[in-house]
Amino acid sequence: MDLERLYYKDAYIREFTSKVVSCEKDKKGYALILENTAFYPEGGGQPCDLGTLNGIAVTYVGEKDDEVVHYTDEPIEKGAEVKGVIDWERRFDLMQQHSGEHIVSGMFHEKYGCNNVGFHMGKDMITLDLDKEITWEQVQEVERQANEYVWANVRSAALYPDEAEREKMDYRSKKPLKGIVRLISFPGADMCACCGTHVGSSGELGIIKMFSCQKFHQGVRIEMLCGGRALDHINLQLEQNKAISNLLSAKTGETAKAADRLLTENRAMKAQLIGYEKEKLETLAQSHKGENSVLIREEGLSPDSVRNLANMLMENGAQGICSVFSGNDGEGYKYAVCQKDGDIREFIRNMNAALNGRGGGKPFFAQGSVNCKWSDIENFFKEV
Ligand SMILES: [Zn+2]
Repeated sequence: MDLERLYYKDAYIREFTSKVVSCEKDKKGYALILENTAFYPEGGGQPCDLGTLNGIAVTYVGEKDDEVVHYTDEPIEKGAEVKGVIDWERRFDLMQQHSGEHIVSGMFHEKYGCNNVGFHMGKDMITLDLDKEITWEQVQEVERQANEYVWANVRSAALYPDEAEREKMDYRSKKPLKGIVRLISFPGADMCACCGTHVGSSGELGIIKMFSCQKFHQGVRIEMLCGGRALDHINLQLEQNKAISNLLSAKTGETAKAADRLLTENRAMKAQLIGYEKEKLETLAQSHKGENSVLIREEGLSPDSVRNLANMLMENGAQGICSVFSGNDGEGYKYAVCQKDGDIREFIRNMNAALNGRGGGKPFFAQGSVNCKWSDIENFFKEV
């Protein structure tokens, strides 16, 4: 263990003093190495700490050749005394998320024999990948058990057993380990090899909240949050539900039922509307019965209805070219053009060229759109 890393001595150190061992400029800024530091470098799935050194913002903290490297935009002279301040809100949040991940991973392992094979602390959401399929009900069981563990306020511990001692211990690790290893113990919930920072007692997590469980590779990906971040996300969802409740005039506990009712009504109205439109188009098609060529402009038709109307005209016995356009001069027109047993491919090529259009289809039937005025369409059809 490296005692110059103060976060291993005490994860609650927010301020410290140290001396600059070296300060060199590289691509990421000024790279500072200190005699000792409380800044946690990115690693083990945990993002790095941010904060300040003598009031200068620390933009990134990484590791190079076993040293903790702090990046700043301004240099600090070698040998200078520095006061380091950790961005505690960020660090404590990461400690909460990381500790919660240990506790639930230990419980999933113990209860369902699955392993944590991926962990990502995103800006908004924490994801946990398990190597076995788990149901949402099983996730909820672990959530309940994990929160009971939070309420029991159990103290965590960092242990440093050697290989012989570890042989007698049951702990989680992603890979086989040699020599002395740091194990993080949440007694009764989890024991896991880890180099990150964790809360001293489970009660500091406040809440462990699972949000989703989706199939992922051979197992599942779970979305979860702990502590303040969980509270923020629950509030966000609460606001959404409140807004839906107001819009639908439904109680907040009955919004899904109200939305379902609305969608059912909506589907019925849509079916009715399609029926009305079909009748209207049939009447329109009938009114052109017996004509040789037909050109129709009809407002507000869907591409399907444009096609259906053209089909109806053709089936009504029109021998020439039947053309249906729907749209307006500003946004252009959708079209369907057809001729029973005809070949209109050349006609469509000419029309697209003349009317700034695109589209095509079968030899006797074409669909597409044109970007022009209605008067241009009328003129084109007058000339053919
Ligand atoms: Zn950890």
